[in-house]
Amino acid sequence: MAIRKIVTEDEEFLRKKSRPVSDIDQRIQILIDDMIQTLHHAKGAGIAAVQVGVLKRICIVDIGQGPIILINPHITEKRGKQEGAEGCLSYPKIYGIVSRPSYVKVEALNRNGQPILIEGKDFLARALCHEIDHLDGIVFKDLASKMYRDDGE
Ligand code: ZN
Repeated sequence: MAIRKIVTEDEEFLRKKSRPVSDIDQRIQILIDDMIQTLHHAKGAGIAAVQVGVLKRICIVDIGQGPIILINPHITEKRGKQEGAEGCLSYPKIYGIVSRPSYVKVEALNRNGQPILIEGKDFLARALCHEIDHLDGIVFKDLASKMYRDDGE
């Protein structure tokens, strides 16, 4: 496993659309392990493959209950609305107030290629939406009603 460099300040790359994964081979397994390690090292809640420079539809969400690995995910149901602060590993120290559904249902494949169904409420719903947006080149800044900087000092 290795910590990969997170793509930051590269608007052009972060805007690219990722391609579906057709074959979950050894390279994908290594990518997933590296993404988990990179996410934990950066202390984030989620990471998409585009953020480590790979345009594949893979993202990982971990809100402190262990990593959820999502390959070719799509949101099949959303309900409600929540307003809250959101950040991104690709935009260090920048936050925005983003409106998201308060509940989402996501279908994806796990790392063994088996279909999984994830239901997320509140912060998990927010993290799922944020990461899946990355796969379409959408970043939270696009959706934020207000942006601010927090150096965390
Ligand atoms: Zn992000």
